[in-house]
Amino acid sequence: MKWAIISDLHANMEALEHVLKDIRNEGLTKQDIICLGDLVGYGPNPAECVEIAKEFRLCLKGNHDEAVVNEALGFNPLAREAVDWHRSQLKPYWLSSKAKKIRWDFLKGLPATKTEERCYFVHGSPRDPTMEYILRADCEDLLGEVPSKIKDIFSRFEWLCFVGHTHDPGVITENSKFVSPRDLNGSFEVPPDKKLIVNVGSVGQPRDGDNRACYVIFDGKKLDFRRVEYDPQATRQKILGIPELDPRIGERLLYGR
Ligand code: ZN
Repeated sequence: MKWAIISDLHANMEALEHVLKDIRNEGLTKQDIICLGDLVGYGPNPAECVEIAKEFRLCLKGNHDEAVVNEALGFNPLAREAVDWHRSQLKPYWLSSKAKKIRWDFLKGLPATKTEERCYFVHGSPRDPTMEYILRADCEDLLGEVPSKIKDIFSRFEWLCFVGHTHDPGVITENSKFVSPRDLNGSFEVPPDKKLIVNVGSVGQPRDGDNRACYVIFDGKKLDFRRVEYDPQATRQKILGIPELDPRIGERLLYGR
């Protein structure tokens, strides 16, 4: 077993292409890729990202994927405008090409969760697959106890729970410690008998202060948090050329915030 686990592509082709190259260099193919959702939302290349994701071993549904095929409920104006533009780009009508219809059906049909080899995969959280965030701050408790939210989430999977959604990579232990990849030198040995929540970070819109694309390689024993350089300026330029996308979406890519 060796998987590349990626999440939150957010229609950023430049970041995705560099990550795919890094994955190939590790001897893996698209059939070894597990994607935890948010193919679309924010970025300039929704159709291209969905097209590539069709070839992955597994792809789950994120809140932005859901919003594009349904409705953008609870989104801030900036995210909603992007979702509305993505829908206009992706939604086929009767004269549309077959490829466009297949892409739309793929996006509509993405599953919310999946378990493989005692690993549970979900975009947000086992309690609310696409919407709930498991944040770094949720791990803290004034009395030093394990917060009930964390305890409840840990009761819902067997061994490892892989998530995305927050764009903040790290490992959460059962005693509610959030460990950042920076503290781990990028890699983490996984005990076979200890449960963990693993946030794989974001390919297309990192928010942990590092503008490089982020993903995880897992071989059954070790988590390898990878950071991949790409040219966020190129993605930003594309965003500036699309009036429906707020320039701030491009700006934040430069800083990883
Ligand atoms: Zn996201």
